[in-house]
Amino acid sequence: MKPYKEMSREELLELKDELKKQYKMMRGLNLSLDMSRGKPCIEQLDISMEMMDILNSSSDLTCEDGMDCRNYGVLDGLPEAKKLIGDMIEVPAENLIIYGNSSLNIMYDAISRSMTHGVMGSTPWCCLDKVKFLCPVPGYDRHFAITEYFGIEMINIPMTDEGPDMDLVEKYVSEDEMVKGIWCVPKYSNPQGITYSDRVVKRFARLKPAAKDFRIYWDNAYSMHHLYEDEQENILEILEESKKAGNPDIVYKFSSTSKISFPGSGVAAIATSPNNLVDIKKQLAIQTIGHDKVNQLRHVRYYKDINGIIAHMKKHADILRPKFETVLEVLETELGGLEIASWHKPKGGYFISFDTLNGCAKEVVERAQKAGVKLTSAGATYPYGKDPNDSNIRIAPSFPPAKDLKTAMELFTLCVKLASIERYLT
Ligand code: PLP
Repeated sequence: MKPYKEMSREELLELKDELKKQYKMMRGLNLSLDMSRGKPCIEQLDISMEMMDILNSSSDLTCEDGMDCRNYGVLDGLPEAKKLIGDMIEVPAENLIIYGNSSLNIMYDAISRSMTHGVMGSTPWCCLDKVKFLCPVPGYDRHFAITEYFGIEMINIPMTDEGPDMDLVEKYVSEDEMVKGIWCVPKYSNPQGITYSDRVVKRFARLKPAAKDFRIYWDNAYSMHHLYEDEQENILEILEESKKAGNPDIVYKFSSTSKISFPGSGVAAIATSPNNLVDIKKQLAIQTIGHDKVNQLRHVRYYKDINGIIAHMKKHADILRPKFETVLEVLETELGGLEIASWHKPKGGYFISFDTLNGCAKEVVERAQKAGVKLTSAGATYPYGKDPNDSNIRIAPSFPPAKDLKTAMELFTLCVKLASIERYLT
């Protein structure tokens, strides 16, 4: 099939009629599929079920340093949990605080604390006229939701193939004291699956912020989430790089086992410099007596060490890989050569980022929803839910059963074709 832009009006009208018939037929299938959130599927949850057998009423719940995990105590996490998560995110255990079940919660707390109490003695952000955050786009909607909730002005920073546009980042960060942070998903980014290059990481580490309370929010959610064993992407360790660059306090690094063990019931952590740890612990000690140590112990006893996590992630990859491949195959078969869309081919993470012709994304998502396939709302990958081009759609292949994914993607590509034809006809 030739590119749509080379078709005559008659050809487009004829094709539109044909596609409409196909769409009507697919609506008749009464599909009900959810591709909106990057949730693991049931098979992925099942691979962690043995973790439930690790602790029972006869287990010894004493941790390595003799602490009874059933009782209060330990603000910043069990030593063995810090070691495990530290190894996972390539940070020494002493640079970590283990929190509860959610890294997003830690990010929220970090912003909230900065708002009310400032960062290492600086003016609380709520006392400033304006606070701004840089937001690489497309990005993670829940990051943007946090900054929007606190009334922080968000500035779009376009992503390139090797990370955010660093010329722009450097300009904003060095010139504007109101810029207090940047959201980053540096490895297998959400949604594009891009891993920041060494050059980009080094430029982050060397930033010269106008604001001394500027922090990089380095959300390492997908550090272990490779799809291909022989094509793993790696990234320079940002805390180490920032220390080398004389900028030791510039980074908060976040992580969790949400998409390793159980989402919402995993273990989450922040890694940062000793100065930041002191600052954070002052607040944390008021907020809680300690997080769930039994869950930390369960994770440590189940995985044992980093090799346990690596082996476990291969099982996730074996389930996810065919799903990603199905999505990419349908995209290529149905849309290849039509010049009406582009998409990323990630080597890890949870998403495939898809771009329609400008002005088509909302319509595609609506059409798919009407026919029973729920996608992430168009615009969700941009601050304030506003995609200036109305083109980006985040595809989350993990959750639907493999057998339904092909049908869902065929419907999706049909919706893309219909919306594109209408764009050309108007
Ligand atoms: N960060 C990113 C980039 C994510 O994509 C997600 C979940 O989709 C999270 C954080 C949520 O992590 P948690 O479950 O640890 O709060």
